[in-house]
Amino acid sequence: MNRVTVFRPALMLSIVAILWQSVPLPTIAQRKKTRKDIPAPQTTRKHNPNLPNVVILATGGTIAGAGTSSVGTAYTAGQLPIESLLQAVPEATKVANITGEQVAQVGSQAMNDEVWLKLAKRINELAKKSDVDGFVITHGTDTQEETALFLNLTVKTDKPVVMVGAMRSATAISADGPKNLYDAIVTAASPSSKGRGVVVCMNDNLFSARDVVKVNTTNVDAFHAPNSGPIGFVLDGKVAWYSLSLRKHTTQTEFDISNVDKLPKVDILYGYSNVDPNLVDALVNDGTKGIVIAGVGNGNLYPAVEERVKAAVKKGVVVVRSSRVMSGRTTMDAETDDKVLGTIASDEFNPQKARVLLQLALLKTTDQDTIQQMFLRY
Ligand code: ASP
Repeated sequence: MNRVTVFRPALMLSIVAILWQSVPLPTIAQRKKTRKDIPAPQTTRKHNPNLPNVVILATGGTIAGAGTSSVGTAYTAGQLPIESLLQAVPEATKVANITGEQVAQVGSQAMNDEVWLKLAKRINELAKKSDVDGFVITHGTDTQEETALFLNLTVKTDKPVVMVGAMRSATAISADGPKNLYDAIVTAASPSSKGRGVVVCMNDNLFSARDVVKVNTTNVDAFHAPNSGPIGFVLDGKVAWYSLSLRKHTTQTEFDISNVDKLPKVDILYGYSNVDPNLVDALVNDGTKGIVIAGVGNGNLYPAVEERVKAAVKKGVVVVRSSRVMSGRTTMDAETDDKVLGTIASDEFNPQKARVLLQLALLKTTDQDTIQQMFLRY
């Protein structure tokens, strides 16, 4: 080979690389337009009377996300319909008869009380049907733990309810959604999953809705249960359970949302050095019914905040102390004395989960001791 034949391809490659780098990335609007063009496949599945029946309730998220680049992290969540998601896991049709409903189509950063209530009511309705054996909820991962806990406390069925998401969009290289979805369907179809409360299925692991937390912004191993670990695994299309939460859930809770169409306003206040205590008053003046403090350490409060919290409690606002620390319990009457302050300790619930429980608790009572017992029971 002479020098010219070696040189020419190298030069061509460099030119292509330079041109490639100078091509502007598509704008979000352009990406959305491309994604809408992805056609939804037709359902051709036949009912198999020998298989269990699983209903998928889809809400959007990255699992239904699409982008124009398979290698980048830029994409828009909540673009693809259920049928497209299922098309990537034809194996699932051997495990269950699958039907689906699109309950919402959002990134879970946009999740709200309205969708929570709609989901819980729909599950409660469908669970009464003898030809429904289990549920899979596809959901964005950002707020998956909040929806999971809400459902864990409000659905009234022993039938499996399995939440699933993905960290990589459906159009990404090595998308994790299809495997997660397959595992979730396997879990929902398995009679062994009954009575375990709502479960979150991510990256081969099964977590109790009570304990699961998103711990990484982008990695596929983004879900852990820092205080207790996973309660099971899905491997080779089979579910293996290892533990069972003793805390009350689903059919054992006192929360009935069948006639509820709005949840009480509960806000979270983050704790940090030198925090401005006026934030407490701002929330109170805005009509909040409950405040969760994402406190430092064992749910401790900055002194000036503590004073304002005492005043807020006297005005009837219910205040729960949780912690900004990833693991451990927020314990009663420790460095901060709940008896003196009129506050409630969140036990193992992180601030965003404590908020969910407090919203439900406030549907029933504002009594400090009664709500404290709920935080110890669920
Ligand atoms: N922002 C996305 C969502 O929560 C992230 C994800 O699903 O992983 O919908």
